Amino acid sequence: MDRLKLYNFERRIISLLYPNKCPFCGKIINSDKYMCKSCPKFLPYVNKPITPPENVSRLYACCYYAYRARTAVLSMKYKGLIYPVDAFALMMYKKISKEHAHALVPVPSGFMSVQKRGFSTAEKIAQRISWHSGVPVLKALKARDDKQEQKMLNMKMRFENARQSFYINDKADICGKKLILIDDVCTTGSTLSVCAELLLDAGAEEVIAAVFAKTVDLSRNKRESKRFPRKERLI
Ligand SMILES: [Zn+2]
Repeated sequence: MDRLKLYNFERRIISLLYPNKCPFCGKIINSDKYMCKSCPKFLPYVNKPITPPENVSRLYACCYYAYRARTAVLSMKYKGLIYPVDAFALMMYKKISKEHAHALVPVPSGFMSVQKRGFSTAEKIAQRISWHSGVPVLKALKARDDKQEQKMLNMKMRFENARQSFYINDKADICGKKLILIDDVCTTGSTLSVCAELLLDAGAEEVIAAVFAKTVDLSRNKRESKRFPRKERLI
């Protein structure tokens, strides 16, 4: 059985225990579907290239972190739901399918968040992208056990915190390789930038990054703030 068939088989088995739901609206859907019919029409897609953070050659994002996309990320992060991971991975795979990389490198989660959720989000997403693409997952980065969450920190503190949070896994062979960093959300890009710097210093040839959602700084971006008003539509 090839890896994709095995993946779909696993999804079918899981759906017998936990009904498969659309990650964006919660509607029950068939086990072979990743989202309902109507949600794709309402997702806040990123349709233009995004400026990548330092050390990253290109940054791919599927959606802005708003509306249903945000709801789905939150349900994965704080309710520990697994089905958003399948939808995110499929959408991210489509974005990066033309990049011929040697490996996918998940941004590691801190020990505490893995304990809370039961899984590392970036690692699960990378694993599923690998099942679609055949590009292997390489755990080239590790997080220190006391890694602090980035969300409460300002830009400068985020860089410092990220620098202290990660280190290279000595056992991973990354020399001369083109790598794609995988994460769920990109906020300021400081985590991706620091991770890319570590990989490049350790001999990687190029580092690209892919995330499911990119946050928008509404206070700075007038056009975006019209598109994504602060008050979110309820879905
Ligand atoms: Zn839906």
